[in-house]
Amino acid sequence: MKKIIKIGNVSIGGENPVAIQSMSDLPTTDIDGVVRQAERLKEAGCDIFRVAVRDEADAHAFCEIKKRIDMPLAADIHFSHKTGILAVEAGADKIRINPGNMTHDGVRELLRAVRERGIPIRIGVNSGSIEKKYEKFDRTAALVLSLSDSVRQIEDDGYGKLVLSLKSSSVTETVRAYREADKLFDYPLHIGVTEAGTLASGVVKSAVGLGALLTDGIGDTMRVSLTADPVREVEYAKRILRAVGLDKNYAEVVSCPRCGRCGYDTQTLAELVEERTRFVKKPLKIAVMGCEVNGPGEAKHCDLGIAFGRDKAVLFKKGEVYLTEETEKAVAIFLEEIILLS
Ligand code: SF4
Repeated sequence: MKKIIKIGNVSIGGENPVAIQSMSDLPTTDIDGVVRQAERLKEAGCDIFRVAVRDEADAHAFCEIKKRIDMPLAADIHFSHKTGILAVEAGADKIRINPGNMTHDGVRELLRAVRERGIPIRIGVNSGSIEKKYEKFDRTAALVLSLSDSVRQIEDDGYGKLVLSLKSSSVTETVRAYREADKLFDYPLHIGVTEAGTLASGVVKSAVGLGALLTDGIGDTMRVSLTADPVREVEYAKRILRAVGLDKNYAEVVSCPRCGRCGYDTQTLAELVEERTRFVKKPLKIAVMGCEVNGPGEAKHCDLGIAFGRDKAVLFKKGEVYLTEETEKAVAIFLEEIILLS
């Protein structure tokens, strides 16, 4: 069990649900744009929002953004501890640093500011910036050793509100490193595959890596890093949480892959059902099955299901046959039932 850490009004660690994070891809000084993006991300299900703070102008903008959004705001700091201190003063709910690109004295000064406000700090080690002395080591070991050194340094300075991450763009390195870190530390882990790529490849890498970790019970916050609209990061993070059973409050649409026996355009129907149920916030299972071979069996385990024959379809409700009707009429009744259930 990991320590419980508060980031603004969101608690992570312990038995808390895995929090979804994303980061703005806009210049931080575009205050209106960043605020609008935060609102879209929140609507999509984002729990913690992060922006880059590179200099004094960003720190001023950060302060304005913080006043205008209703979501914990983290500051992403690299190289300059002084900028980190400005972000703390601007009201950051969390500071993310990579100690590998900051001096030890700088980290110590930043810690003083963080401690005064009692906010957590994330130590984020990336495979691209591991400590020089570990560069010749196996990369997974180098990530874990770099993180261990940074944690020890901050603990020696007497601070324990930590969140840890150690990301690689390699899925296997990421998974191995987090499994090791999970054994070594009781601080919450922020998980992600870094620089995962564009939408399709990034989603696959994140789903494989984060899915493996989450099914092991590893991960307290997560980010699906994509070279795409950040809203997509949140949407796919939610899908990953659902796939591993950590978010059950949604409408799961079970649909068969179709074959020559398929008696209807189930692709269009399944997509329509997904679209109509995307705001459902309770556990619901709906089946769209192409024929009578596997259809009834699958549909029986659902709250509502439809299985198609040659010119008729069977509707199932809570595992029982509900009615058999001519195809189009059955589809219309099925869609009406979905509205009633949603
Ligand atoms: S349920 Fe029927 S149509 Fe769908 S894949 Fe199975 S056999 Fe084919």
